[in-house]
Amino acid sequence: MEPLLLDGNRVATEVKDSLREKVISLKETGITPCLATVLVGDDSSSATYVKMKGNACAKIGMESRKIHLPKETTTSELLEIINELNEDSTVHGILLQHPVPHQIDERAAFEAISIEKDVDGVTSLGFGQNSLGFGEYPSCTPAAIMSIIDYYNVSLEGKHAVVVGRSPILGKPVSMMLLNRNATVTTCHSYTENLKDILSQADIVVAAVGKPRFIQGDWLKEGAVVLDAGYNKGNVGDIDYEACYEKASAITPVPGGVGPVTISMLLKQTVDSAEKYGVSIQNS
Ligand code: NAP
Repeated sequence: MEPLLLDGNRVATEVKDSLREKVISLKETGITPCLATVLVGDDSSSATYVKMKGNACAKIGMESRKIHLPKETTTSELLEIINELNEDSTVHGILLQHPVPHQIDERAAFEAISIEKDVDGVTSLGFGQNSLGFGEYPSCTPAAIMSIIDYYNVSLEGKHAVVVGRSPILGKPVSMMLLNRNATVTTCHSYTENLKDILSQADIVVAAVGKPRFIQGDWLKEGAVVLDAGYNKGNVGDIDYEACYEKASAITPVPGGVGPVTISMLLKQTVDSAEKYGVSIQNS
């Protein structure tokens, strides 16, 4: 039987449609949700991602402010910019595009973002809160994966979810979010032994490896739900899509799966911040 296609474009469109309405209402109260993006250096992929995020903001009536800093920027110069954005009441979300140039202490830069504006879920406080299940803004790609799961009513309770990857922005937070929803979670990484055996027991697979077509169809259990967060050159994900399609009961495509929902989560979290933080500024 053909697997259910977990259509990220469809999920993202619904999220953005509801945000458009919210943005109109917020504007009527004098608040225009605004995402500040900070790009350091000239990496062309990063520049494209920042541009896409700016365009996505415009499409739903939000503002975006692009701060483009030279590649020689120091950590303290970057921290100063982030602090200015923290203080700016017209900015509701801050996104520091990563990776940043090697001379910058990336962790220090992330930690400088105030928790109210950490709409990309990159601070350790945001990560810790979300791991405990009460945080404001989770990291956007894990939030996108959870949105797709909820939109398609994928059952999590008691299921074995295997996450391949443990990065701070993806593998680790999505593992915690699945655990908080009562899945039994195994998080795999480059030191994991017997990856294929572990995957063969997975009801739910999250691919977050950063290696094109890494996960093979014959590693999967028949009927597994497969969520591919990967995005590699040539528009391919981290799974061998055609082979995994044969085994899965539900699967995200690349492109058109997790990617578009990730951007809509960034917009949603910025609008949520404007709703809370913007209104409180106005009333203070
Ligand atoms: P990352 O920081 O490079 O992390 C990759 C993870 O995969 C690491 O934890 C690494 O293990 C693990 N890994 C590498 N080789 C492995 C192997 N042979 N077996 C098992 N695990 C292995 O990547 P990321 O930032 O999390 O991104 C992962 C993927 O998601 C990429 O394709 C990226 O493009 C994509 N992505 C998509 C979006 C979106 O919006 N759709 C957003 C962000 C990222 P170690 O920890 O041991 O090194």
